[in-house]
Amino acid sequence: MGPAATGAGSDALTARDLYRFYRSGEEETLALRGVSLRVRRGETVAVTGPSGSGKSTLLACLAGLDEPDGGVVHVGAERVSHRSEADRARLRARRIGVLLQSGNLLAHLDLRANIRLAHSAAGGRAPRGPGAGELLEQVGLPSRGAALPRELAGGELARAGLAVALANSPDVLLADEPTGELDGTTELRILELLRERAHAGTAVLLVTHSTEVVSVADRVLTLRDGRIRP
Ligand code: ADP
Ligand code: MG
Repeated sequence: MGPAATGAGSDALTARDLYRFYRSGEEETLALRGVSLRVRRGETVAVTGPSGSGKSTLLACLAGLDEPDGGVVHVGAERVSHRSEADRARLRARRIGVLLQSGNLLAHLDLRANIRLAHSAAGGRAPRGPGAGELLEQVGLPSRGAALPRELAGGELARAGLAVALANSPDVLLADEPTGELDGTTELRILELLRERAHAGTAVLLVTHSTEVVSVADRVLTLRDGRIRP
């Protein structure tokens, strides 16, 4: 018998046969050509592949930030793809933590306010996840709640971004090169935090070039020309 639908090991994220085309003038780029994957609760999956292979496009489709031209994405039993922008935003706020290379912090808000904004985006009377103070403590920034993003060093910024991504205790955490510009010590600290989340039952999918990240993943998927390499 399989695990209970809500238990560790059940599918938290599934993508079936994703296609994504970009057209600009005469040019057509096939960024995704039939990508299928699943990430279970508690599992950490690394996605690697050369530049231009479709990693960021895949992440955006999984997060519901972009619509695939074909195929379907589910978080648990809920469909993410082919829904209105508003529906996708609501679903993302409640169930998906996203850490993009462009950052997920608003520049004019301090860290505490950035986290509270993430809380309120998920709706509901009380936050779904830990409070701002507890989150900042967890990522090792207990005294930086009043700091603006521009006042933070690179490693601190990455940790603050992670605090926002985790604000609503997401079922799925998606990150594009989360340790891309970090020194070794900070990278290890971030990886430790991601592993903790996975052990707590979150499905974690990371785009990465880092051998450190690949080494902590349960599985590695390699993209090439918009397909998962067999
Ligand atoms: P990766 O993250 O692996 O470097 P991307 O997903 O960013 O790859 O890009 C995959 C392919 O799609 C590349 O050929 C890229 O040039 C193209 N692409 C990505 N975004 C766009 C866009 N908005 N418009 C046109 N082409 C795009
Ligand atoms: Mg990319």
